[in-house]
Amino acid sequence: MRKLPRVLVVEDEPSIAELIAVNLRHNGFAPTVVFDGAAAQREVDAVLPDVILLDWMLPGESGAALARQWRKNERTKTVPILMLTARSDESDKVQGLDAGADDYITKPFSTQELLARIRAVLRRRAPEIVNDTVQVGELVLDAATYRITFCGTELKVGPTEFKLLHYLMKHAERVHTRGTLLDKVWGDHVFIEERTVDVHVKRLRESLGEAACMIETVRGAGYRLTGSNGNSRPAPGSSLSTA
Ligand code: CA
Repeated sequence: MRKLPRVLVVEDEPSIAELIAVNLRHNGFAPTVVFDGAAAQREVDAVLPDVILLDWMLPGESGAALARQWRKNERTKTVPILMLTARSDESDKVQGLDAGADDYITKPFSTQELLARIRAVLRRRAPEIVNDTVQVGELVLDAATYRITFCGTELKVGPTEFKLLHYLMKHAERVHTRGTLLDKVWGDHVFIEERTVDVHVKRLRESLGEAACMIETVRGAGYRLTGSNGNSRPAPGSSLSTA
């Protein structure tokens, strides 16, 4: 079992902090939430996080001051810091980056954007721990552990179907021709009939059970994976709005 990347969330607004934490938990991260700089420092001293989400406006010590401190310290200087800011002012972003943040994200932001930024800083700083998880609605695919779950239940999918699903999930909501799928999933050097794609899509749908309807046949065009069918429940935090 791989260890989940630890994310320290330093955010003084409890509702935002909780939303972030829930979404991180749903997406293969282990979040710890603290509400101010002193608690953040205690947490960092106790367990070094893999990434820090740092709010700019905090009671007491500011996010920028904390970032500067952590960058100076031998033990913490390489921990990726992603600054959360309500300000969209250019000078604030520059100050954040000057203080040592790897990147910043302006509130309100979407969960997908936040996750993408976290993965990007981890990939740059610690490529070995990036969790290669894709989620569309309630369907979750973890390429590293080779697991697919729908509404928390694990699904058994064959190797070709796994690759096909991975591609469709990474490029969800778009229509892919059979030719494109052959190129991207089977490799363009392979001479296979386009009908092969149909055979594997059929098998994939059988493996997906209740989630089968997420894969749509688009007449005369190809296939599309959509999050708007298979899930009765909304995707966790698909439109996390923070102000
Ligand atoms: Ca704040």
